[in-house]
Formats: sequence, C-alpha cells, structure tokens
Amino acid sequence: MAYLDSFKPDKGLLEDLILTPGVSGFEDPVRSYILEFLGKYGKPRVDRLGNIIFEAGGEGPRLLIAAHMDELGLLVTGIEESGLLAFRKVGGIDDSILPSTHVVVHGSKGPVPGVIGAEPPHLRITRKAGEQGYKPWHELRIDVGAESREEAVEMGIEPFTPVVFRKQVTYMAGERYVATRGIDDRAGCATLMELLRLVSNGVVRPRVELILAWTVEEEIGIIGARALARELEPDYFIAVDTMTCCHPSLTGSTRLGAGPVVRAMDNYYITSPRLAKAVYKAGSTRGLQVQVATAGGGTDAAAFHYSGVPSVAVSVPVQYTHSLVEKMHTGDYAGWTRLLAAVVESGLED
Ligand SMILES: [Zn+2]
Repeated sequence: MAYLDSFKPDKGLLEDLILTPGVSGFEDPVRSYILEFLGKYGKPRVDRLGNIIFEAGGEGPRLLIAAHMDELGLLVTGIEESGLLAFRKVGGIDDSILPSTHVVVHGSKGPVPGVIGAEPPHLRITRKAGEQGYKPWHELRIDVGAESREEAVEMGIEPFTPVVFRKQVTYMAGERYVATRGIDDRAGCATLMELLRLVSNGVVRPRVELILAWTVEEEIGIIGARALARELEPDYFIAVDTMTCCHPSLTGSTRLGAGPVVRAMDNYYITSPRLAKAVYKAGSTRGLQVQVATAGGGTDAAAFHYSGVPSVAVSVPVQYTHSLVEKMHTGDYAGWTRLLAAVVESGLED
C-alpha cells in the first residue's frame, strides 16, 4: 500500500474555509475559523500583521510551512447619490470576470448581498463590431438595491468596506474535480490543517521542527510572508499555494490529476534546487505522484528566499485561477497533504 493511502481529506473543512470571507487585509473571519481549529491542538499565536503561527513540534531542521489565508476581492471606494457603490480591485482580477457577478458586501451591520451589473446586448447601439463586450472595472458599480447614498449607509456600507464574490462549490465528474472561487488558497490552508491533524494524531512523525503559518495579504504582494521571514528565520520554508496550470510553454507537461507540483521556478525567483530535490525525493521514494514544473505568478516562498532562507513552493495544479471557477482535481488535493507529510517525515535529507 502506498504511503498514507487511506488518507481522505475532510470535505467539510475545505468547503467551510472556501465559504468564509477574508479579502486581503480583511482576513478576520477566516483567521477566526483557523484559530478555532488550532485551539484544539495547542496554542496558536497571531503576529501584529495578523499572520497565524503554530509550533507543531518535532525535532530536526526548523521547517516552516505556510499557506495564505487571504483571497481576492473588492473594496468599496465610494457611495454615489444613486446608492450604487464604486469599488477597486484587491489582487489580480481580470476585468472580464467582473460584470454579471453576485457579490457580498461585508458591512458593519453584516453581509449585504449585491450584484455587479452587465450591459445588455439590446442596449449596445453605439458599439462597433470587435469592440470588447465589457467595461473596465472603474466604469462598473456594485448594486445592492439601495436607492440613495443614505440607504446604502443605513445598510452598514461605507468606503473601505470589503466585498467578496459569492461562491458556489461545484463537484464535477462525480467528485473527480471541484470548481469554485477560493481554491487559491483555502485549499492550501485546509491542507496545512489536515497535516497538523495527522501530526497530532501520531500518524505522521516529524523529523523536523515543524512550524505552520497562515499568512495575510499574499495576493497584493506577499506582504504577510515578508514580515514572517524577518521574524522567524527558519532553516527552510515551504509555501503551500495553488499553481496556475496548464500552459504548454510556462508549465510544460504539468496537468491536473497527476499529483502536486514542486515549483522549480516562477515569475519571482528560482527555487532552492537542493530543497526542491529533497521534497521530490520524499514523495517519489514513498510511491507518491509528484510533478516538477515552472510556473507563472509567485508565492510566499519568494519573500523567504529574498531574506536568505532556502525556499520552495509545493502546489496543487489549478485551472482557471483567479476566476470564479478555479478548478482542482480532488486526487491532487489529497496528494498534497500526503506529500507534505512525507516531507515532514523525511527530515529533508538529501
Ligand atoms: Zn495563492
């Protein structure tokens, strides 16, 4: 039997994390959820930026594994006389996905449902053939049904209120795939929690001094991880984050369903080859599927690498990243925890 073959991730945990809001800089709800979980296993710590740090025990090289808890979203920038809300984007969101979406505005009086409208084709009398069918973000507004500024304020909305896209978790081909907004990186957050559960239950015995972290503000420039890198100075760092698949040049032959990915390089840095090899070996010698790839984008690993800590990102391949339908293979997802468990048990030996 292959290593940790019987491991089955907790679907409820993943869905809860996905459905809990936490736009970059406004991570409170998702942080509370994670802290409550961690409270069952020990004493988590929260630093001044809001990163969560948890000492999970074990002896050996000091290994920090982190996932980012923040997500893409919007921020209300103003309320117009009409009651419509102006907004800006938080994180890398393509304008094409904005129109015709359902959103939730997280105001001071609780969640307020709303929509971002779209221009009906019936009314496009001036547009020329070939012109794009959607407006840039700054010409769009959030409609919460308020008919005046006063009414929107009465709903608990003001400038600087975070907004998330309404999420729908869709399982496809049985449960082979799951697609929803928020796989990036709530799947990573859940994976660290699964790993902790295995370590705490004695199923996985760390041969490293294991520290787990859930970081803030990754999506707007790996902010939380930069602070953490200065504070913790581990021997090694692993970012657990999604990877955009599948581009014939950028990500090569990487595909969904062939296991988690060791990211050898992305747009920010080239990974520590020794560490990447150690991760690959930990998995492959235990019979686990592991892919190696280069990627676009970046992860928290860059922040640690910049501060002199050998780092690597271990990812799950995802299609349609940063959209409302990020798609992940459930086998890759289970394999993610198994690979990290293998790494922790390997002691990161050459
Ligand atoms: Zn991410």
